[in-house]
Amino acid sequence: MSHVFYRTPSRSYPIIDRGEDIYLWDTTGQRYLDGSSGALVVNVGHGRARVAEAMAAQARRVAFAHTMRFTSDAQEHLGSRIAQHLPHWAGAYTYLVSGGSEAVETAIKLARHYHRERGDLGRFKIMTRWASYHGNTLGALAASGHLLRRRPYAPLLADPAFIHFVPEGHKPTEPCTCAADLEAMIQQQDPTSIAALMLEVVGGSALSGFVPHPGYLATVEQVCRRYGMLFIVDEVMTGMGRTGDWWAHEQEGIHPDMMVLAKGLASGYSPLGAVVARRDIWEAVRGGSGSFPHGFTYGGNPVSAAAGGAVFAIMEDEGLVENAQRQASYLRHQLECLQAHHPLVTAIRGRGLMQGLVLATHSGPGGKRAQEIADEAFRQGLIIYPGSGNPQTPQGDHLLVAPPLTVQAGGIDELIGLLDATFTKIEATTDDIP
Ligand code: PLP
Repeated sequence: MSHVFYRTPSRSYPIIDRGEDIYLWDTTGQRYLDGSSGALVVNVGHGRARVAEAMAAQARRVAFAHTMRFTSDAQEHLGSRIAQHLPHWAGAYTYLVSGGSEAVETAIKLARHYHRERGDLGRFKIMTRWASYHGNTLGALAASGHLLRRRPYAPLLADPAFIHFVPEGHKPTEPCTCAADLEAMIQQQDPTSIAALMLEVVGGSALSGFVPHPGYLATVEQVCRRYGMLFIVDEVMTGMGRTGDWWAHEQEGIHPDMMVLAKGLASGYSPLGAVVARRDIWEAVRGGSGSFPHGFTYGGNPVSAAAGGAVFAIMEDEGLVENAQRQASYLRHQLECLQAHHPLVTAIRGRGLMQGLVLATHSGPGGKRAQEIADEAFRQGLIIYPGSGNPQTPQGDHLLVAPPLTVQAGGIDELIGLLDATFTKIEATTDDIP
C-alpha cells in the first residue's frame, strides 16, 4: 500500500524507471515517447549524464549555503549565461528560485517594490490576460486567467490587486482594435495604481500555442510605457529555446522589464526558476533601500544552479535552439498533414517546438476531452499535454505537442504515428465530433 498523496488519488500511476533522450520507461518495461517534454520541461532530453555530473560535483563541493550570507560560483555562472543570451537587454540581473510559481510571485513583488523604491507608493495592481496560466501558489493563481484551476480556490483569490483583460486578438469575430480594450480598462482602474502587466508570449496550458497577431505585444508594451507600468513576460514555458529562439519575446521586437523563467532552465533535472530583471530595476533597488524584502530558503540553490549551467552548456554545444527551429517546420508540416484526415483537429497553432492542436470539441473549462485524448495517447505510449481552458475563449479543447529540443525527424515521425493512432481511436469511439 502506498502512502503517497498523489496528484489525482483516483488514478493509478506507473513507476518511472529511466529516461533517455525523447523516451521514458516505466518499471514494467513500457516505453513512452515524451511528446511534451513532461510539461514543456525537459528541453535537453532525458538521461543527460552531463547535467547529473555537474549537480553531483556541486553537491560534493557544497550543496547549500544560505543566500542571506553567500553567493556561489554556480549561481554567478548561471546569471552570466542568462545575461549573455539577452544582449539586447543592456544588463540583465537574475534572481533564482525553485520553480515557475515562485518566480511569478517574485516578479509580482519585485514590480511592487520597484515602484516603492522610486517613491510611487500607489502602484500595486497586476494586469494579466484571460486566458492565461502563471502558477498555482495563491498570488500566481490570482494572476492566472484559468477558470479550472481558480474555481476551487476562488474565495482565496478575491484580491483586488489582480485585473484580467481579454485581448482583442482572442475575439476573432470582432474587428481588431488591438490594445484599445486594454487601455480602456487601465483608465477604469486608475492608471496610477497599476504596477505591471504580465503575459505569456505564446499561450501555454490555458491557450495551447496561441500566438498573438503581429504587433500586438509591441502595442501592449507601448501602452505599459504610456501609463508607467512595468511589462513582464512569463517565459516559463516558452523560454530556453522552446519556440526556436532562446526567448519567445525576441521575435516580437519588444523590451520587457522582467522575464520569468523555470521549466527548461534546468530541464527538469532540479527544481529551478528565475526572474530576470533589467538593469534599471536592479539599480532602483540597489540605490534605494538597498534590499528586496523577499526570499525563499532554496532560492539560488547551488545544485539547482549547477544543473541550469549544464543545461546551457548542452544547449550551446549541441545547437539545440537551431535544432528546435529546424525540426519545428517538419513537426508543423506533419501535424498539418495529420489534421487533414482527422476531423477531431480544427487548427494547429504555435511556434517552434511548442505546437497547439485545437479540437472540434468544447468540453468546458476542465478540458475533459483533451484529458481523455492525452490518456488514450498515454495508453499508446505517447505523452502529450492536455490544455484546459475556460468558456470565455471561443476556441475548443486543446492539446500541446512539444517534444524535447533534441528531437530528430525519426522521432517526429514516430510521434505523429502515435497521435494518428490515438485520434483514430477517439474518433471511432466518440460521437460529438462534427
Ligand atoms: N507560468 C507558466 C507560463 C506556466 O506554464 C507555469 C506552469 O505550467 C507556471 C508559470 C508555473 O510554474 P510551476 O509549475 O513551475 O510553478
